[in-house]
Amino acid sequence: MVPQAGETPVVGRFAPSPTGRMHAGNVFAALVAWLVAKSRGGQVVLRVEDLDRERSKPAFVDAVQRDFERLGLTWDRGPYFQHDRDEAYRAALEELERRGLVYPCYCTRADLHAASAPHRGEKPVYPGTCRSLTADERAGREASGRHAALRLAVPSETVAFRDLVQGDYAQDLARDCGDFLVRRSDGAFAYQLAVVVDDAAQGVTSVVRGVDLLCSTPQQIHLQRLLGLPQPEYAHVPLVVAERDRRLSKRDRDAALDELLARFGTPEGVIGHIAGVTGLAPTCDPATPEQLLATFTVDALPTLFADPVQVAWR
Ligand code: GLU
Repeated sequence: MVPQAGETPVVGRFAPSPTGRMHAGNVFAALVAWLVAKSRGGQVVLRVEDLDRERSKPAFVDAVQRDFERLGLTWDRGPYFQHDRDEAYRAALEELERRGLVYPCYCTRADLHAASAPHRGEKPVYPGTCRSLTADERAGREASGRHAALRLAVPSETVAFRDLVQGDYAQDLARDCGDFLVRRSDGAFAYQLAVVVDDAAQGVTSVVRGVDLLCSTPQQIHLQRLLGLPQPEYAHVPLVVAERDRRLSKRDRDAALDELLARFGTPEGVIGHIAGVTGLAPTCDPATPEQLLATFTVDALPTLFADPVQVAWR
């Protein structure tokens, strides 16, 4: 389908972290991202999310691109690399700092673990320990040589949005998420900040990713509003699980891409099986992403998955 005159072109994205090979779950999310963009005549951007310099490996950067290519998951722009983007992240952080919204946090992992109870089963909420330190207290912590992370102070405010798969979702920032990191204590920019700055700079209008990131989305929307950036549409797809409540991981070798290619013989075999198992297609017959486009519509997303949170791998 070709976008009509006056319509904003849809720009989706693949945003792999090059910390391992792809497995069925990553392929599934990328396939939906591709279908959501291409079914509306849109484009796909490839962004390599290598913020975590220790865990990101050049071998995986190459492998992930080869894997997408082999599977017919094409991209129109990129690859862009987060390691090239420090200046843009710094500018966004400085803007937040100028407005007095950011404070240094000296809590260690152990402090955080001890202080915060996981909230509503989602993620620990930062209790605000370092938010109101006095200048003396800060100086004391600095003197002890602790490296500060930086957190964004969030208001008690509800952020709501409609997800294309999960439906209406809302969080009270203060109660459900708490002040969140914008820079880590090792100096790396935090995921939430980088993703928001990159999505805007790369013109991304459509974010498709696993439902494990649903609870990050209100934080990202809050940042978009603070920084005056447009809000993309969101579709959080179910996680592919090895068994109930345990997502696929690198332990599940049988779901790793090389194993899948060996099991199904061809890239079409892999794509067709993933589409059939997840509910994207009525059967597991071999198919290319291009062939799946013939029957895919964004309007079907709210009802496509029997369980919007998890699908069992088989
Ligand atoms: N890089 C993340 C991952 O591979 C995805 C982040 C996102 O889609 O916002 O899980």
